[in-house]
Amino acid sequence: MRSTMMDYPLVLPSILKRAKEVHPHKEIITKWHDNSIQRLTYGDFYKRTIRLMSALRKAGVKPGDAIATFCLNHSVHLELYFAIPSIRAVLHTINIRLFPEQLTYIINEAKDKFIFVDKSLASSIEKNLSQIHGVQKYIIIDDKENIPLPNLPNSILYEDFLKTGDEVENFEPIDEFEAAGICYTSGTTGNPKGVVYSHRSTYLHSMSICMGDALNIRESETVLPVVPMFHVNSWGIPFAAVMTGCKLVFPGKHLLGAALAELLESEGVTLTAGVPTVWNVLYQHLKKTKYNLKLHTMVVGGSAAPRGLIEGFEKEFGISILHAWGMTETSPVGTVSHLRGFMNEWEDEKRYSYRAKQGVPVPGVEIRAVDDQGKDVPKDGKTPGELLVRGPWIAASYKSGESPESFTSDGWFRTGDVVVLDEFGYMQITDRKKDLIKTRGEWISSVDMENLVMADPDVLEAAVVGRKDPVRDEAPVVFIVPIEGKTLDAKKIHDRLKDHFAHWQLPKLDDIRSVSTIPKTSVGKFDKKILRKQLEE
Ligand code: AMP
Repeated sequence: MRSTMMDYPLVLPSILKRAKEVHPHKEIITKWHDNSIQRLTYGDFYKRTIRLMSALRKAGVKPGDAIATFCLNHSVHLELYFAIPSIRAVLHTINIRLFPEQLTYIINEAKDKFIFVDKSLASSIEKNLSQIHGVQKYIIIDDKENIPLPNLPNSILYEDFLKTGDEVENFEPIDEFEAAGICYTSGTTGNPKGVVYSHRSTYLHSMSICMGDALNIRESETVLPVVPMFHVNSWGIPFAAVMTGCKLVFPGKHLLGAALAELLESEGVTLTAGVPTVWNVLYQHLKKTKYNLKLHTMVVGGSAAPRGLIEGFEKEFGISILHAWGMTETSPVGTVSHLRGFMNEWEDEKRYSYRAKQGVPVPGVEIRAVDDQGKDVPKDGKTPGELLVRGPWIAASYKSGESPESFTSDGWFRTGDVVVLDEFGYMQITDRKKDLIKTRGEWISSVDMENLVMADPDVLEAAVVGRKDPVRDEAPVVFIVPIEGKTLDAKKIHDRLKDHFAHWQLPKLDDIRSVSTIPKTSVGKFDKKILRKQLEE
């Protein structure tokens, strides 16, 4: 029997139009570089976005063209998020922290036609102009940083560019499988790989993350995404927020400690999202300074949310950390760790250990863990396997066909994450395949070790990598950044680890090292490649 349902495409303009129809008066706030606060309504945002669509078309943008952004989180970036795909062009959000070679590589590989760039970030582009080919126009967004305009060829200010368009609705039919956006992986080896999202995958991902058992984004929330709009579409939050019509607060460059806390307080933010390092800094700040926050949920992902942080935020500030896992290739949200109803009865110890897991797949996504032969490992909470994933917002290939070995012949994406699954289907990451440490033929989980070390109240950050060892093959080395005013007590850390690791897995006392910072990747994760290199040297 054939279905009698409508063939209604899942495309981004329908999210945009709903926001105008249903929530025209809801606010979109931006804090610009000079601390000024801009307040737009969804109605204003809609008018500016259709004008931008018109300006892009008049400037010669055609379906399929890649149009790049080089921007922080602000309202103009949101206009670009919707206007570019709505004219069937492809939104390429460039990571502003890439090294020059990677930056120029992805601009050229994506064949970006225009680049929209924040004034304060433009120097990174300016310095590399000789290596950038094919970009026809630079549109500069005045982010209110008090510096002169950059010297980019064929450039125009965003507000002047906007004036070239007409405020008229002109939506053309879009096939839901057409490309809407492209993000490049932030892999630390080889060239970044392009992942091309469709309208359909973006739409379905947005619907999924709004669900109560996912990120629970809904109209009544005030949402501030700290996770950059250049990192996997800010985890899809801007699309989901516009879909539901919630008040959106964009922090611009105000991302740390006091500046962030003030904005969370003044705009009554209830839900926010970002990588653990941001929340670590905020946690330390909140311990010293009192704020009147309405914040109830902090989505944490990108790296493992330390259990101590989850417990600390909840017990001291009544803020719940929602731990989520994902990748550029998974749009990104794949799993989320909510407690099941019956788990709320459990004692603290067990509840927090579950909250610290990466959780269960959100509806629409399937996961498995397999051994080296591709056989499913038992769901016993201890046998590690590589995580495989599939679903409507999971990549089926990279843009240029690189790394075909990442995709199985029967339709699963190999994540490279090593995980255990337990009897309730909760997934816990024990490592990246390449970060595993092998000691006397047995694997040690660097993530488990980091979590234990970071549970120490005197530790701000900890990263564990392996060093070559003549007896043990590899031995773990623990790099620790103590919190301000504290010094490292290696013996105390060693004692803490002793209860959880076999003696042959433990680091030597002088392999527990104090450092002033841990190097981070362009998206704020610990850069273990640099640490390993430092050890080799
Ligand atoms: P990216 O594509 O840059 O977002 O990086 C994806 C990788 O980040 C994953 O394959 C994981 O290794 C890691 N990752 C993401 N979320 C988590 C998490 N909640 N816990 C541990 N690792 C994570």
